[in-house]
Amino acid sequence: MSDFIKITSTDIPEINGSFSSHEELYKFSIEKPEEFWGPIARARLRWDKEFTKVMDCNMEKGVFDWFIGGKLNASVQCVDRHCEVDPDRIALIWEQDEPGKEQRITFRQLKEMVCKIANVLKSEGVRKSDRVVMYISISPLAVASMLACARIGAVHSVIFAGFSAEALASRIMDAGASVVITSDQSIRGGRLIELKKTVDAAVAKCPSVRRVLVARRTGNPVPIIEGRDVWLEEAMEAQSVECIPESMDSEDSLFMLYTSGSTGKPKGLVHSTAGYLLYASFTHKQVFDIRDGDIFACVADIGWITGHSYVVYGPLVNGITTVLFESHPAYPDHGRYWEMVQRIRPTQFYGAPTAIRLLLGHDSSYVTKYDRSSLRTLGSVGEPINHEAWQWYHEVVGKGKCDVVDTWWQTETGGICISPRPSAPGAEIRSAMPMRPLFGIAPVILDDKGNVLEGRDVSGALCIRKSWPGIARTVYGDHSRYYDTYFKPYPGYYFTGDGSIRDLDGYYHITGRMDDVINVSGHRLGTAEVEDALDEHFSVAESAVVGYPHDIKGEGVYAYIVLKEGVIQEHKQIIAELRSIVRTKIAGHAVPEIMQICPSLPKTRSGKIMRRILRKIAADQIEELGDVTTLADPSIIEYIIKNHRHCI
Ligand code: ATP
Ligand code: MG
Repeated sequence: MSDFIKITSTDIPEINGSFSSHEELYKFSIEKPEEFWGPIARARLRWDKEFTKVMDCNMEKGVFDWFIGGKLNASVQCVDRHCEVDPDRIALIWEQDEPGKEQRITFRQLKEMVCKIANVLKSEGVRKSDRVVMYISISPLAVASMLACARIGAVHSVIFAGFSAEALASRIMDAGASVVITSDQSIRGGRLIELKKTVDAAVAKCPSVRRVLVARRTGNPVPIIEGRDVWLEEAMEAQSVECIPESMDSEDSLFMLYTSGSTGKPKGLVHSTAGYLLYASFTHKQVFDIRDGDIFACVADIGWITGHSYVVYGPLVNGITTVLFESHPAYPDHGRYWEMVQRIRPTQFYGAPTAIRLLLGHDSSYVTKYDRSSLRTLGSVGEPINHEAWQWYHEVVGKGKCDVVDTWWQTETGGICISPRPSAPGAEIRSAMPMRPLFGIAPVILDDKGNVLEGRDVSGALCIRKSWPGIARTVYGDHSRYYDTYFKPYPGYYFTGDGSIRDLDGYYHITGRMDDVINVSGHRLGTAEVEDALDEHFSVAESAVVGYPHDIKGEGVYAYIVLKEGVIQEHKQIIAELRSIVRTKIAGHAVPEIMQICPSLPKTRSGKIMRRILRKIAADQIEELGDVTTLADPSIIEYIIKNHRHCI
């Protein structure tokens, strides 16, 4: 057989056997999950006690057990193992907000920090399975605090350090935490953010909190409440650099984390120890083709799942250097990412479409003046990436030489589920789609009635029909919400909430959230497709499309448009051209009836467009905007409402 490709040891060495292609190995992972995941888990994690059974999962009930009977500690996987072989290897590079300022931490130093904080937590009476809330932006101390919780078996709950006191209080209460870790202030884009003051306001409403541990970030004076607040670094000084790790069950909770809140009340999803760690680190290695000595730059904050899986756990389990990015892509100017790339020389860069769209609106010299030759792979996550942004990432940032991977996944999935895998033999990558399921992920597309749509050229609700190790196990304190949200809509399947197309070549595209699907005269439209077409226009930086009630068509298409900086073209002409682009690229029924040009769009704090709110404005239901606490900049809403009647 001339085209026989044996999956070699550089590929997935844990799997014994000959497979002629990536597809065959993928098929094996779906059909024989125990034979696939068992050896990988045995080889890739250090077990105190080996598991006796790979899995026991029930998709009907939404109950999942992986690596049953196994015992391990997450912090050992992330630090101790690497310390033993190479203690001076750099574990963390903290890219601080102040331009040009960075701090490097070795695996030995990280281990010492983890143990000291773990001992502080123990001395505060924190025990196995207690929840510890962290309201702190990214830093070595923040990463060490997460791992310190893991070391003693406590469950960390990182709350993005931009949420209001009210949002923080409701999450502390939901978790029933007795200890909160924060810092005096944080700093982003040169702006100081009052973390400690926000914690004070939140904790005033949370009787469960006994202790607030305060790290120093800026050193500016902040109020300290005697008897409750303790400076973290001072408490660490008195502690030993050793702390015996707690041996946890595979299925013990490692952390809980709230979703971004794009669609409503946030859910505190709970992740397991063994399954999560394995899935985060395995997908990290596979998607980004991680090799020894790599420096991985994922620019997400630790307040989101991307920060958990691909800043902290994935890279650290894999023993490589991970970058902690504290700043903003436009600070001090639009070249920040690339100046950092030139200085730190990362091998991979992983960011969000929202930032890419922000940067492509500015002169490309912000990118090209810096040396980006260290980069091999560029990743995108969080929202559908439009073609224009993908191309810019590929051509301008990657000079056409880097693999660009659009990675689809969710807080609930623990790690990347659908994404190109450039290291696969003969892999092809196409623009602006996640393309292929990763090992162990069996996506299906269902219609409204719950029928599975077989074959190609189909679209509908994206579900997953088999369990994988990284799936979240429950919603904290509310298992019925977990079941109702993910397993009740399509019995026997995990429902992602997103829509998808499997195209003529069998590749997956994400069309946006199912709640956002617009039905125009019986034609179903995904928001991503229309936005992608609008974004192609030279003057458009980004757009958001929603449906609104329409007497004749049922729903009409309403588009909010943000123009690039310095556009002088007349708005009327731009709108006429946009209509024609959508008509040519998609169809007449997809052409927006209403277009509103706005200075920016309402986004969640993780940078995602909040279509839920835009939909209400388009429908004139301004009194019913719902929870806006997760918005990054609420003032834009007022602007949009005021001008909503004056659109074209
Ligand atoms: P909430 O669940 O509270 O509404 P959220 O869904 O935004 O918040 P996350 O778990 O952070 O919270 O985001 C996952 C969602 O982000 C996915 O369900 C999908 O809608 C979107 N997403 C992530 N990556 C991609 C991608 N590559 N392409 C398209 N959409 C993506
Ligand atoms: Mg979601």
